[in-house]
Amino acid sequence: MPDLQFVSTRGGAPPVSLSEAIAQGLAPDGGLYIPTRLPTVDAAGAAAARTLPAVARAALAGFFSGDRLQSAVGEIADAALDLSAPTTAVAAAEHPLYALELFHGPTAAFKDFGARFLAESLQRLESQAPTPMTILVATSGDTGGAVAAAFHRRPWVRVVILYPAGLVSPRQEQQLCCWGENVSSLRIAGTFDDCQRLVKAAFGDSALAARHRFSSANSINIGRLLPQMVYYVASSLDIGRRTGAKPSYIIPAGNLGNAFAAVWARALGFPIGRIILAHNVNRTVPDFLKSGIWQPRPSIATLASAMDVGNPSNMERVRALYPTVSGIREQLSADSVDDATIRARIGEDFMRYGREWCPHTATAAEVYARLSATERRAHPWVVVATAHPAKFNEIVEPIIGRPVAVPESLDRLLRLPQRALDLPPTLEALAAALA
Ligand SMILES: *Cc1c(COP(=O)(O)O)cnc(C)c1O
Repeated sequence: MPDLQFVSTRGGAPPVSLSEAIAQGLAPDGGLYIPTRLPTVDAAGAAAARTLPAVARAALAGFFSGDRLQSAVGEIADAALDLSAPTTAVAAAEHPLYALELFHGPTAAFKDFGARFLAESLQRLESQAPTPMTILVATSGDTGGAVAAAFHRRPWVRVVILYPAGLVSPRQEQQLCCWGENVSSLRIAGTFDDCQRLVKAAFGDSALAARHRFSSANSINIGRLLPQMVYYVASSLDIGRRTGAKPSYIIPAGNLGNAFAAVWARALGFPIGRIILAHNVNRTVPDFLKSGIWQPRPSIATLASAMDVGNPSNMERVRALYPTVSGIREQLSADSVDDATIRARIGEDFMRYGREWCPHTATAAEVYARLSATERRAHPWVVVATAHPAKFNEIVEPIIGRPVAVPESLDRLLRLPQRALDLPPTLEALAAALA
C-alpha cells in the first residue's frame, strides 16, 4: 500500500493510489480524487531549487511516496516541465506588480503544464497495455490543443477532440485541428455543453467504453493539478527572494483547476498571501462567496471563453479542504468582470504598462485595478497570465491598434494544415466516427 491514499470528494469510492487516481481521472462515484491528508514537503529543497523540475521534485515527492511512479517523478518532471514560467515585473506600475507568465508552452496557455505532466505519467503506466487507450476531450478552446500537443505521436494512446463549431477562436481552432496521426478533431454542430454531454454519453455506453478503453484528460485529473502547483511554489519563492515579501495571486478562473493548485501550494506551507479568483460573467463562485448558496447554472459565452463554466467542478476539492462557507471565505475571494470591462482593461493596461493581456488575463488585471491603494501597497501582487495574447489576436489587436507578435512555437502550429470532421451532436455519429 502506498503511504498516501487518494479518496473521492464524494466519499463513495474505495481509496486508490496516486497512479490509479491519475489513470481513472474521475472517481467511480463521480467525485474528484484528493489525498487523505496533505503530505509533507521538502521546503529547504524547494527553496534551493532554481528550475521547475527541481522545484517539482521537492514539492511533489510526498504525493508520490510509495506509489508505482515514485521513482519516476523526477524524470516525469524533467520531461514535462521543461518550460519557462517567469514572474516578470510590470515595470510601470506604481506598486509592486508582477505577471506570472504561463503561456510559454507549445500551445501558449497554462494547460500545457498539466497536459504534459499527465502524458508523461500515463506513458509510464500505459505504454505496455495491449490495446491503445482513447482519450476523449470536450474542449471550449485551450484544453484540447494542450492535450493534443502533449499526447501527439505517443503510440499507446489515441486522442479524440470534440469542440463546438463556431465557438472557439480561429487560432484555437487551428491548434485543435493541426495534428493528425493519433489525434482526431471533431467539429460538433452544437455548444460546449453538447460536447461534454456527448463525452459523458460515450463513457456511459459500456460496450463503446470497453471497445475503446476511454479515458479523460480534463482538468479534474489530479495528474494535471500537481504540476500546476509547481509554478506557484517556484513563483512565490522567487518573489520572496526578490522582495523579501509574500506575494498574493489574482487568478483567472473557470473550472478552478489552476486556482485550486495555488490553494494547495499555500496549504502545503509555501509563502503565498491572498488568492483572488477573477471570473468573467459566469458568476457561480463570486455569488457563492457572497450568499453562501451554491447555485450552478448554464454557462454564458464571453470573450474569456476558456472560463465559460457555470458549474466549476474543482469547487468540490476546495470544499473538501475547507468544509464551511466561512472557512472558504477566509481562503479565497472572487470577483466578476464583464466583456466590456475586459476590452477596456486590455486597452488601458496596454497604454499604462505596455502589457498585452489575453482576455482571460485581463479579468485578473481588472480585479487588481479594483483593489484599494492600501491593498496594492501592502504586498507584491501577481496577476496570473494564463494565455498568450496572440492566441486571441482577433480580440486584442483591434483594441490595442497593432499586431501582437506570435511566439515561435505557436507560429509553427499555425502553419500546419487543418483537418476536422463535422459531426451532429449525437452519440450515434460519435460512435461511427470512433469506429
Ligand atoms: C482553462 C483556462 C482558464 C481557466 O482555468 P481553470 O483551471 O478552468 O479555472 C483561464 N485562462 C485560460 C487561458 C485557460 O485556458
